[in-house]
Amino acid sequence: MPIQKVSFEETLGRMVVGRGLCVGCASCVVSCPFKCLEYFNGNPKIVGECKACGICAQICPRFNFSMPQLEEFVFGRKRKPEEEFGIYKRIIAARATSDKVLRVCQDGGVVTSLLISALDEGLIDGAALSYESPEEPLRATPRLALTKDDILGSAGTRYTYSPNILALNEGVQRKAGKLAFVGTPCQIHALRRMQMLPLKKYADAVKFLVGLFCSESFTYDGLVKGLLLGKLGVKPEEVVGINIKGKVLLKMRSGEVRAVSLKEIRDYACAFCSACPDFSAELADISVGGLGLEGWSLTIVRTDIGEEVFRRAELSGAVRVKPLEDARIIDLLIRMSRRKRETSARFYGSA
Ligand SMILES: Cc1cc2nc3c(=O)[nH]c(=O)nc-3n(C[C@H](O)[C@H](O)[C@H](O)COP(=O)(O)OP(=O)(O)OC[C@H]3O[C@@H](n4cnc5c(N)ncnc54)[C@H](O)[C@@H]3O)c2cc1C
Repeated sequence: MPIQKVSFEETLGRMVVGRGLCVGCASCVVSCPFKCLEYFNGNPKIVGECKACGICAQICPRFNFSMPQLEEFVFGRKRKPEEEFGIYKRIIAARATSDKVLRVCQDGGVVTSLLISALDEGLIDGAALSYESPEEPLRATPRLALTKDDILGSAGTRYTYSPNILALNEGVQRKAGKLAFVGTPCQIHALRRMQMLPLKKYADAVKFLVGLFCSESFTYDGLVKGLLLGKLGVKPEEVVGINIKGKVLLKMRSGEVRAVSLKEIRDYACAFCSACPDFSAELADISVGGLGLEGWSLTIVRTDIGEEVFRRAELSGAVRVKPLEDARIIDLLIRMSRRKRETSARFYGSA
């Protein structure tokens, strides 16, 4: 289909940024062939004369986004009504075998293990992912990881938004070779749209996409100034990790774990997350979350390349797997997926 020629201002400027829907994924910024956009304060900002090529409007995860269209592209078919958390090949509980990974990971260390295994096996040359800003504790920051140590040093979840597409762009500019991409569902949406268009330099650079389950991300100011400093009187540098398991669990440098009610953090969720219909990264090659499990990752293998990456990690012994014995986990996954679709539908209904 020929690209409709429309300007950034008429499309994303007015309908996405202007309505507070921009997730700040940076896909438009990196894709603009005329370098008209810059990434500024988490949003695109027009800095040159827009030639109205229309590319940004074709790849934005918040503009004319169609899940069925992308499902056709990724899986060759649309989902059946009973495929409530998207199309997949298998769903398992999995866990890293390496103590080094288990010490630093968020849940079962599957994401880090898959990336290290794929690097070892020569499937990838690196990964576009996220790490903690060396300058600001708890701030998620995109990173181009080209070594095992980089990947290991990026394990764990930061609950603030990280535009990992900037790291992918760095990899493309540096001709870093084949890359894995790790990101939240909205970033996977953008990446799939870039592949579908196609924007060849990005499509060719990406070997596989690992999607993280996501209820929402939080603003840095809200999380740090609002919750930690404001409500709890805790300095961010005292917190070595945060996990959300029914409660917000703050792992303190002292070894203590402080539990805080989810209600305390909800006010600081990024407003744009209400528009997202996707909990379990339904378009990724492999989706990973911690839902319903302790110390294991709930892992959904969705595509052929996802299966190959996972199988190689399993065969090399990097991950071990157990079946999901508790049917309540699938029920929970279905409930979370429905809830996100309903919230998104309500958002658009009232927007
Ligand atoms: C904002 C956010 C919200 C989430 N919400 C849920 C939820 O509601 N329910 C649920 O089950 N799981 C959620 N997750 C996923 C969960 O926290 C774990 O990332 C997942 O279970 C993988 O764990 P692991 O031990 O296998 O990953 P690890 O081996 O620890 O690797 C984690 C990977 O995630 C990357 N990463 C870390 N922070 C970010 C970020 N902000 N943006 C992009 N990439 C990042 C790291 O670079 C690393 O590669 C969320 C993740 C994020 C980032």
